Amino acid sequence: MQAAVHPGAVIADPDRLVAYEADALTTSRGLPDAAVFPSDRDELIRVIRLLHEARVPFVARGAGTGLAGGAVAQGGVLICTTRMHRILEVDPQGQTALVEPGTLTDEINAATEGHGLRYLPDPASAAACTIGGNVATNSGGPHCLKHGVTTDHVAALEVILPDGTPLVVGRGEDGGLDLAGIFTGSEGTLGVISRIRLNLAPVATAVRTFLALFDSVADAGKAVGRIFDAGVVPVALELVDRETIAVVEASIFAAGLPLDTEAALVVECEGDPEEAAEDLEEAEKAVLACGAREVRHAHSDEERLAIWQARKKAYGALGRLAPDVFVQDAAVPRSTLPDLLPRFAEIARRHDLRLANFFHAGDGNVHPNLLFDRRDTDQVARVQKAGAEIMALCVNVGGTITGEHGVGADKVRHMGLVFGAEELSIMRAMRNATDRLSLANPGKLLPEEGGEAT
Ligand SMILES: Cc1cc2nc3c(=O)[nH]c(=O)nc-3n(C[C@H](O)[C@H](O)[C@H](O)COP(=O)(O)OP(=O)(O)OC[C@H]3O[C@@H](n4cnc5c(N)ncnc54)[C@H](O)[C@@H]3O)c2cc1C
Repeated sequence: MQAAVHPGAVIADPDRLVAYEADALTTSRGLPDAAVFPSDRDELIRVIRLLHEARVPFVARGAGTGLAGGAVAQGGVLICTTRMHRILEVDPQGQTALVEPGTLTDEINAATEGHGLRYLPDPASAAACTIGGNVATNSGGPHCLKHGVTTDHVAALEVILPDGTPLVVGRGEDGGLDLAGIFTGSEGTLGVISRIRLNLAPVATAVRTFLALFDSVADAGKAVGRIFDAGVVPVALELVDRETIAVVEASIFAAGLPLDTEAALVVECEGDPEEAAEDLEEAEKAVLACGAREVRHAHSDEERLAIWQARKKAYGALGRLAPDVFVQDAAVPRSTLPDLLPRFAEIARRHDLRLANFFHAGDGNVHPNLLFDRRDTDQVARVQKAGAEIMALCVNVGGTITGEHGVGADKVRHMGLVFGAEELSIMRAMRNATDRLSLANPGKLLPEEGGEAT
C-alpha cells in the first residue's frame, strides 16, 4: 500500500488511528487496521485494486462529520479523501463545476462566486464537510427547502468500483437508468466517488430574513404549515427551541434572543427584490396569525449572519451542556409538527434525558437531539431506547428514518420500519452488482438478510 501512494499517506499506528475511530455520532466506534490518504484518482484506483486483490474491506471517509456512523471502519482500511480537494474546473457557460470528493463544500462557493454562480445545497456543516460525503449521503441543508437536496444538483459522477474499475455515470439523459442518482446517497457501499460534476445556479439577487419568537413550540409548528398555506415557499424555514436558544445565547454565537422564548423560526425568502419582499410579508402575517409574540427582521448582512450563526452553530454550542449529543434525523409530514414536538419532549422526559431541537422545519426534517455522556452506560442505553421510540413515532405518522444524514451503522436496525423484504432484496442485489465480495463499507445502510427487524 505504501508503494501505491505518496510518502506518508498510510497510517497504521494504532495511536494515530484513534483520531478516526468515530464520526460525529460518538456512540458508533471502531478502529481500522490502517488509514490511507490518496492524493488523486490514480492513487485511489491503485489503492482500491490492491484492497480488492487482497480481499480487504474498506470504508470511504471524507471529513468524518457524518451523523450516522457511516465513515467508521471495524478493521480493514479507511480511505480518506481529504487530500483529493482540487476544484478541477468551473465552467461559467455550462454553469457546472468539476470537483474532487475531498473538496470542502464551502470552498465550492468561494471558487464560483466570482463567476456570479453558486452551488445551492448548504449543509449546516458546510465549513467542515466534503462534497464527496455530501453526495454519498445525499445531504440536505437549511436552504434545500426551495433549492432541493444534493441529488438535484449532481450532473455526473466518476466512481471507482470496489474492484478498482473507474466508471463515469450520468443522470440517464442519454437513456438508460439514472446511475448517478443511484450512487448518490449510497453511503460508500457501491464504490468510492472520485470526481463530481455539479450544477451551479446564479447567485440570488435579493435575500430577506426574519426571526419569529413564540411562547409555544406547538404554535411555531403550526406557523410552519400556515406559511405554506399562504402560498409562500421560503428558501429556508428553520426551528430552534428553548433549550437550544439558552445554550446558543451562552456561547459566542449569541444573537440576543430572549431566554424565555419557547421556540424561534428563522424564515428566509429569496428571488427578485419585489418577490422576496412580498413573500416575506406574507410569511410574517402567517407567523403573527399563529401567535408569534415578536418578529425581528435582519436589516443588514451582519444581522442576517448573526441569525444564521445562532442556528448553524447550535450543534457545537450543545457541548456546553453535555459531552455527547445523539442527533436524531427523521423526516415527517409538516402538518404533524405541532403534535410531534411535545411528544418528543415527553419521550425524553420519560427516559430522563435532556432534549434540544433545531431543525429544517419547512421540509419536516426533524432533529430531536438527545444530550448524554457516553461514559455512562445507563445513559447510553436510555438514549438508544428513546431514539428508537422517536424513530417509530416518526414512521407511524407517515415519516421516514432519515431526512438527510443517511442510515450508516446507526439506522440499519430501523430499515425494516420503512422497507419490506422485497425492496431490501432489490437493494442488496444492486449492491452485489458492483461489489460481489462485499468489501465496500460492510455493515452499513442495508441490514443482513433476515436482520430487518428493529
Ligand atoms: C454540526 C453539524 C451540522 C450538520 N448539518 C447537516 C445538514 O444541515 N445537512 C446534512 O445533510 N448533514 C448535516 N450534517 C451531517 C454531515 O455533515 C453530512 O452528512 C456530510 O455530508 C458528511 O460529509 P463528510 O465529508 O464529513 O462525510 P463522512 O462523515 O466522512 O462520510 C459520510 C458517509 O459518506 C461516505 N463517503 C464519504 N466520502 C465518500 C466518497 N468519496 N465516496 C463514497 N462514499 C463516501 C462515508 O463512507 C460515509 O458513509 C451535519 C453534521 C454536523 C456535525
